[in-house]
Amino acid sequence: MSFSSYVEQLRSEGQAKFPSNANTAEFARELDSQDPIRHLRDEFILPTKASLKKKALDGTLPDGSKLNGINGHANGTSAASSTDDANVSSTGIYFCGNSLGPQPKALRRYLNAQLETWGSIGVGGHFQNLETSPLACWQDLAEDCAIKSAAIVGAKPEEVVIMNTLTANLHLLMASFYRPTEKRHKIILEWRPFPSDYGRINKNDIRPVWEGTNKSNKYAIESQIQWHNLDPSKSMITIQPDANFYISTDLILRTIDEHADETALILLPGIQYYSGQLFDIERITAHAQSKGIVVGWDLAHAAGNVELRLHDWNVDFAAWCTYKYQNAGPGSIAGAFVHERHGAVERGEYPEGKATYRPRLSGWYGGDKSVRFNMDNKFLPTAGAGGYQVSNPSAIDLASLLAALSVFEKTDMATLRSKSLVLTAYAELLLDGIIADSLSGGDGEEQALRVITPRDPSERGTQLSVLLRDGLLDKVSASLTEEGILCDKRKPGVIRVAPVPMYCTFDDVWRFMNALRKALA
Ligand SMILES: *Cc1c(COP(=O)(O)O)cnc(C)c1O
Repeated sequence: MSFSSYVEQLRSEGQAKFPSNANTAEFARELDSQDPIRHLRDEFILPTKASLKKKALDGTLPDGSKLNGINGHANGTSAASSTDDANVSSTGIYFCGNSLGPQPKALRRYLNAQLETWGSIGVGGHFQNLETSPLACWQDLAEDCAIKSAAIVGAKPEEVVIMNTLTANLHLLMASFYRPTEKRHKIILEWRPFPSDYGRINKNDIRPVWEGTNKSNKYAIESQIQWHNLDPSKSMITIQPDANFYISTDLILRTIDEHADETALILLPGIQYYSGQLFDIERITAHAQSKGIVVGWDLAHAAGNVELRLHDWNVDFAAWCTYKYQNAGPGSIAGAFVHERHGAVERGEYPEGKATYRPRLSGWYGGDKSVRFNMDNKFLPTAGAGGYQVSNPSAIDLASLLAALSVFEKTDMATLRSKSLVLTAYAELLLDGIIADSLSGGDGEEQALRVITPRDPSERGTQLSVLLRDGLLDKVSASLTEEGILCDKRKPGVIRVAPVPMYCTFDDVWRFMNALRKALA
């Protein structure tokens, strides 16, 4: 069996038949040797066991390179390759791309280009770019980012805008797409209020503890409703997961039907951040729209993780951040999608004619580039998602995103997803081994862990959420950190394991599972 046949099995049957020797370093390394995008790991600076212990700046990076200007170190470029054998053991395991992706090596070149451009030609950088720079002039950067991001989310370039941050974009989009009337005023979202002790499913099950999901969106939606002088207790409809943290498509469709005539908007996450569940975006979108409801998606955990076809699925609008699966850095500039149906602008003759377009909150950067700087007070809205821009975006932020997108340009989402399917299925197989062994102890103790992410690969991305028995999290977490492993912990009891195909290996998964087994012992 080969890497590509596992991809084939997972895509067609939803399951891979791994051999009996799968839980060996040799098997993991054999899969790595067949991985067509294994070279992409070298595009990233991955923390090492040693660098994770760093307490003060010393002008070095874990890949052996030195940074200019800090502690007077001279210029230097990348020294060792992270796939060198000697380095493999000391390289940490980076399984938290669902929280913050690692630093792309390209970032320094892109940021240096901005520093040199700004320093050398000052304000001229708005309309001029220096030869050999990897970047366009500042005025064209956001559009360049939009073109490159469109391929990641399955949109036309003019349906994407790069601006602001995720929650700010949700607000701007809701300002345009949530237009409550007396009859249609409800917003449907997913949310479970605070931890509830709602019992065990059976003796061996771990008590499900839900910490309240998706706070950021709940607050944003609640405030939109209040801002329209409406009452959240009447206008906010929450869909709650079952005791297995699962929200079935049927439940979503039933909720839509139940509130169809009174609902203005449904806003759901593409992937639920806690359970890792991937929703059937196409089916839910079509169903809600058939009832006259506007459909928006929060793709924080989906963009750059799974294959999306926002245009073909006829999604009304969507928004995502770029610091998780897109690796553009902490708090990096975000993306938004507005379907071309909604971005159209009917222009009168400039400068006298009046333009008609979908109502939104506007700013001068939503004005057409060709006349934006004619200070004649004639607003000519940009057609497409770009019209939703309000301000001059940070060129430094855009340069970071472009550096991160340059790695995506070396591959495509289908290739990334193919590897991701195998990588996550392999992680699941090894996790199931740990669960089986912990049960065979037969001492009547509660099960130590279980996977709460859907078992069907078409209902998840890279992430597997592992729910630990009460009281285990701190111990397991300390032990993983000691091994140089970065993965995300959510109190009170979940670790979210995200082997991201762009920079993680099968060997990482194998080593991680050994460390987890040790941590649980
Ligand atoms: C990461 C994440 C956010 C982050 O929002 P910001 O505006 O970038 O702070 C919001 N919603 C969800 C579901 C997320 O996972």
